[in-house]
Amino acid sequence: MIEITILSGKGGTGKTGLTAAFAAIANNFVLADIDVDAPDLHLIMQPKCIERNVFHGARIASINTGTCTNCGLCKKECRFNAIHYKSEGGLEVNPFECEGCRLCERICPVQAITSEHSSNNYWFISETRFGTMLHAKMGLAEENSGKLVTVVRKNAKKEAFRQNADFLINDGPPGVGCAAIASVTGSDQVILVTEPSKSGFHDAVRLIELVNKFKIPIHVVINKWDINPEITKQMESFFLTQGIQLIGKIPFNEDMVNAIVNQKSIVEYKPESEIAKSIKKMWIRISNQ
Ligand code: SF4
Ligand code: SF4
Repeated sequence: MIEITILSGKGGTGKTGLTAAFAAIANNFVLADIDVDAPDLHLIMQPKCIERNVFHGARIASINTGTCTNCGLCKKECRFNAIHYKSEGGLEVNPFECEGCRLCERICPVQAITSEHSSNNYWFISETRFGTMLHAKMGLAEENSGKLVTVVRKNAKKEAFRQNADFLINDGPPGVGCAAIASVTGSDQVILVTEPSKSGFHDAVRLIELVNKFKIPIHVVINKWDINPEITKQMESFFLTQGIQLIGKIPFNEDMVNAIVNQKSIVEYKPESEIAKSIKKMWIRISNQ
């Protein structure tokens, strides 16, 4: 089983549209949306949930006002300024600011503070018209997305092995943060989706540096290449010097957006279009490798 992770240096490069197109072309695979901070693959895949699981996130402290003596020590020592005086008197923890470090819990002289893991995050096993998909939903202001990425990937791998699948296709997060690192580690191949803008180029370079640290082969797709042919040319020669294979260029076309609006991949929406044909060729190149 080959695990392919599709990443982008920044959001909005068309990564999810491309993942959905690969899903419409590939055979015998499991799909995972591991962009857990901003998942959107479900908008195209319309998954039907068959299993819902709770992911226990970071701890959040709370103060038992009945026991608290208002000494103010926890407020003074909380380096995240998560503890505040209430207008009616007494102290409270702002759950959106609490980092769950548990310092306050340890130093409270009367043990008035406890902390619990948040249980506001979920991961799912679902069925789609193309097969099994694993995905997740994080609660408002929840953290630990890197850990949730790891949980979704681990279970997607389990599912892929159970089904004897040839591929696990991950729609990864944008950027080079904790979630991106959790997506890359242990993948067999990374496909970087980028677009020709100065910031797109810069972000692609940063992501390539990150992936190279893990010694994972990278392939690149330049999306909307014709919006700036000059930067596309610069990117192409950069990838060449880095020994990175450019597996395809996609021109700007509103059909890519219209397909998503219609909850379809471009391969389903316009199967005879040049874009659909070129994405099919890309998948053949990737799967042959
Ligand atoms: S340290 Fe404990 S007793 Fe003191 S204000 Fe905080 S919760 Fe209350
Ligand atoms: S757990 Fe840490 S971050 Fe949260 S309120 Fe206590 S000291 Fe502050």
